[in-house]
Amino acid sequence: MRGREKFDVVIAGASFAGLAVASRLKGKVLLIDRKDIGSLPTSACVTSLSLIKEGSCERSVLQVVDKVKFSTPHGTISFKPITPLATFDYRAFCRCLSPSAEFRKENVVAFDGNELETNGARYSARIFVDCTGWRARLASLLDGGFLDHCKLGFGLETEVDYKADSAHFLWDPEIIRRGYAWIFPKGEKAGFGLGSYGGKTDLLPRLRKLVTGYGLEVGKIRGGFMPCGLRSPVLQKLFLVGDSAGQILPLTGEGIRQSIYFGERCGEIIQRIIDGEVHLEKGLKDYELLVGRHRGVYRFFERLQGLWPRIPTWGVQLVAHLLAKEPLCRLAQENYLRWPFENAQVFS
Ligand SMILES: Cc1cc2nc3c(=O)[nH]c(=O)nc-3n(C[C@H](O)[C@H](O)[C@H](O)COP(=O)(O)OP(=O)(O)OC[C@H]3O[C@@H](n4cnc5c(N)ncnc54)[C@H](O)[C@@H]3O)c2cc1C
Repeated sequence: MRGREKFDVVIAGASFAGLAVASRLKGKVLLIDRKDIGSLPTSACVTSLSLIKEGSCERSVLQVVDKVKFSTPHGTISFKPITPLATFDYRAFCRCLSPSAEFRKENVVAFDGNELETNGARYSARIFVDCTGWRARLASLLDGGFLDHCKLGFGLETEVDYKADSAHFLWDPEIIRRGYAWIFPKGEKAGFGLGSYGGKTDLLPRLRKLVTGYGLEVGKIRGGFMPCGLRSPVLQKLFLVGDSAGQILPLTGEGIRQSIYFGERCGEIIQRIIDGEVHLEKGLKDYELLVGRHRGVYRFFERLQGLWPRIPTWGVQLVAHLLAKEPLCRLAQENYLRWPFENAQVFS
């Protein structure tokens, strides 16, 4: 073990959230992850093409998708997204986001709020940021009761050789109860996945059934838990961003845009602390307030996630049918995609 080292900021977790925080920071910043950056995605890696373009990460795009299909046992509805979606290569995307901060491949094992210990060294810093995903490793080490294990969904995906031209969502209790299935095109391949709102982890037999239904074989598996509902974005003097703060959206399970949005805002606040423009306490409060402004949106989607599986499938089909009609289709998409970037109050 090396001796204790001092940094301005130490960020644990170098995926979407951690990279976004670091992208806004100058100074002595350390980024820690137990894996090499971009080496092991949990995500299906679909987001809006505009987000990828804003980060100048076009090289990571696997396929641009301008058609969405939604199926229930009663039929399939198609619509054109107002802004195309894109599937992307996780490694290339992370590489593109990679900031100038120093990176070390280490595993966080202890944290007391002032000092962080990994399997390689001990670190002290003015500011620590927890971007370790759903486990919220730093926050959990500070407060053993931080995680609510009842509020976790779970997702599993496999990539197989299959060409498709649309992002396909399937709402069918025969495939999965209290959750949904997806097929996302990725060039010569496609990601077949299942998401369980109830956090069921034994999804492999169902995923196999879905994939073999297309005459295909399950390939390499990836996945993980998805927190449901906002958690506290600060704990004592610790900032939390991304899944560690529950910033993934309930119902849809979309978390990449949110991790990047809140990560960049958090990084900007931290930079003002480093520059001496605001005290740490004020910075923590500002970040808490910023996230708090979106609480209404999260509550809305959390309630929908609880309600949606109780609606009979014909009712789901009817709602989807109405939502796919203009002008509702455009309006719903505009509101959904504008958030969290422009309109924090849409659903509150
Ligand atoms: C199956 C599945 C599919 C999904 N698909 C999509 C999608 O298509 N689009 C979308 O928008 N969202 C999707 N999501 C949600 C999205 O993946 C998450 O919201 C997003 O990854 C959160 O980013 P993050 O940086 O907060 O956490 P993560 O991406 O989970 O990264 C956490 C990082 O912390 C590191 N870490 C953890 N513990 C330690 C430790 N002790 N020491 C050091 N490092 C540590 C990990 O190695 C990891 O790199 C999906 C989620 C799942 C489970």
